[in-house]
Amino acid sequence: MSMSRPVVSVVQFQEPYGTVREALDLCRGLEGIGKDDRILIKPNLVGWDVDFPVPPYGMVVTSAVMFALVKILAEEGFRKITIGEGPLMIPKTMGRVMFKTFGYERLRDRYGVELVDFNEEKFTEVDFGDFKLSVARKVLEADKIINLPVLKTHNQTKVSLGLKNLKGCLNRKSKMFCHGKVNEDLDRLFPRIIERLPVALTIIDGVFSLEKGPSYTGRAIRKDLVIASTDPYACDVVGAEIMGYRVEDVPHLKYFADVHGRSYSLKDIEVAGEDVGEHRKFVDYDFEWTPDNTGPAAFEKRGITGLALRKYDNTLCTGCSVSFTPMIMVLMSAFKGEPFPGTEVLSGKIQTASPGFEKTILFGKCACDLNKDNPNIKKPIPVKGCPPKLEDFIGALKAEGIDCSMDEYVKYRHHLYDRYKGKEGFDPALYQEQEL
Ligand code: SF4
Repeated sequence: MSMSRPVVSVVQFQEPYGTVREALDLCRGLEGIGKDDRILIKPNLVGWDVDFPVPPYGMVVTSAVMFALVKILAEEGFRKITIGEGPLMIPKTMGRVMFKTFGYERLRDRYGVELVDFNEEKFTEVDFGDFKLSVARKVLEADKIINLPVLKTHNQTKVSLGLKNLKGCLNRKSKMFCHGKVNEDLDRLFPRIIERLPVALTIIDGVFSLEKGPSYTGRAIRKDLVIASTDPYACDVVGAEIMGYRVEDVPHLKYFADVHGRSYSLKDIEVAGEDVGEHRKFVDYDFEWTPDNTGPAAFEKRGITGLALRKYDNTLCTGCSVSFTPMIMVLMSAFKGEPFPGTEVLSGKIQTASPGFEKTILFGKCACDLNKDNPNIKKPIPVKGCPPKLEDFIGALKAEGIDCSMDEYVKYRHHLYDRYKGKEGFDPALYQEQEL
């Protein structure tokens, strides 16, 4: 066994405090952090919604793990602790709402932890050589960052772990920039954020994992693991392996490995604690699409015809991605047994109209701009917005005689929440204020 291998701890989640303690001890996670260091904890609190109930499982960090971590830091004498996140601004930033919902105010009151929604603060432009990104000033002011992602999949990046979680440190514009102009850009842009950040420790909250993430439209799985390392890449490799992905399968991890001369092999990582093989189980990342790219498999099952909804690509940034599933549900509501009138739906920055359609729905400003003079389009239905509003989408379709409504979407949202109710292991208390 070589001394130089990075150590990643994998610990079975039981009682939260003991679990996080063990995970930190096994990888000597706190050794590189000074008592006077300004510590920033960056949890994954990707977004929230107040219009519908949101199932938090596998989407956001559990309060159980967060409270355990802060308690340990406080006991060890670390005093300058900030928890910061820049959630999606759809329609507005929800940092404060989430801090309150997840009980973090108790951490502020008890330990003086500062709670920061980056979107409410200043950003500083940071030079990455070939491009610039605006990073939250609070992030740049930190001496050490503890990155706290969730063990989840992502329908564009396959896995969303530590490297991906740092995208939340950027302002909205820079987040959008990371989605790039061509499909390959995304996997080569966000893995570079870490180059300028002092990430001292990564802890992957694997109490739940999430299939077809990154949002609540995915399906959560109780996984009961906490994974930690001072080596951010190694930590992500182990997290990915546990969800059934090797470095070679995940373009952004492969890219990172290539740039930094890192090994793809799990053998070059020392795993302390649980055996990875015993916990490895494939968690699917993507929604099933028809082979001829006319829509999600659900369209076929329902017998929907006359509609070609092209699959999202990586250039679709998170704003449009979040509206994408609701958009699908609204489209479904328009199906009343009759075929659609030869309708194509395009989104993102690279999808261009095909010939032979009666109507072309352009979802979002990017698709509108790209296709504005496309001769293949007979009748455009532009839904501008960046990201477009669902109401505008419904209005634009109705004006074209496609009768749709929010009803399906409302039903779907309730279904997403209700499917965990009373289900063993899906305890809402894991996402609320914890005893200290
Ligand atoms: S329209 Fe959509 S894909 Fe284009 S920049 Fe806006 S949010 Fe991103």
